[in-house]
Amino acid sequence: MEPPTHLTLILDLPPTLWGAPPNHGPNEPLMPLSSFLSHVLAFVNSHLGAREENGITVLGAFPSKSALLFTSSSITDAAPQGANTYHTFKIVDSEVIAKIQHGLASIHEDREAPSGLVGALTKGLCHINRMLYGSTGTATGESSRMTLDATILILSVSPDISTSYIPIMNFIFAAQKLKVKIDVCKVFGEDTVFLQQAAHLTGGSYVTLRKQDSLLQYLMMCFSAPSSVREIINIPTQDRIDLRAACFCHKNIVDIGYVCSVCLSIFCSPVPVCSTCRSKFPMKTLRRFGFGLPKSGVNAAHIAAKS
Ligand SMILES: [Zn+2]
Ligand SMILES: [Zn+2]
Repeated sequence: MEPPTHLTLILDLPPTLWGAPPNHGPNEPLMPLSSFLSHVLAFVNSHLGAREENGITVLGAFPSKSALLFTSSSITDAAPQGANTYHTFKIVDSEVIAKIQHGLASIHEDREAPSGLVGALTKGLCHINRMLYGSTGTATGESSRMTLDATILILSVSPDISTSYIPIMNFIFAAQKLKVKIDVCKVFGEDTVFLQQAAHLTGGSYVTLRKQDSLLQYLMMCFSAPSSVREIINIPTQDRIDLRAACFCHKNIVDIGYVCSVCLSIFCSPVPVCSTCRSKFPMKTLRRFGFGLPKSGVNAAHIAAKS
């Protein structure tokens, strides 16, 4: 028997992009938020309707904050209203729309603040962890793990924020440990390096939306099948994955970096002392990488080139 699927859907909701006037994008302007939501909610309903045990959590990434928009574990058996509506669909649609409207309306200043994507991802993963292992935190063995096919799907419109490199990498490692796949649908804008890596490293798919009208079709074809079926069907994969990293010193994305041999921190130029673990590096190695004599004392880098 197939385990039920729990989908964690992360919506990237920067008001500067969703509320912006048309024709500012690189190729095609971003679709209106209402049509985006109609595609997304149809996908959410199809996921919930496909099997009774299926669950969903919807999280929104607003500027510098994230919010839980909906979770299927909160559905109560209230008296259904309207004989022609499936009660669950109605609750999902109205809750998600109301919370997004509330979230966007409560942003007054800092509309351009960096997206709270990392917060949303982390909350999503914590929620999955809780479902897999219970809320006590005492059950840790693989045997106590509940059978659940959990995936995270990110609908991304914002570009990469280089300061979120370290938290996103930590999130990826945590997701790998929980065996959670991360899928990404790039709805708008340039490809994001960090999310490509997230999909690549967790065995998920990174799909760039070519035509915004076809969002629902992309979601249904690429992301609606459970893991066991996805091994058989042919889901678009990335031909090229950008595996560049951001340096820990300036948070720039670098082509060639210098890696601390002790803690694997990445720097854009040779440094005498690692700023993360305080390891000192031999002068000989540092000079080999073109580092001038440091002013004070013993140290230098033990360095491996990274491309
Ligand atoms: Zn740097
Ligand atoms: Zn170090």
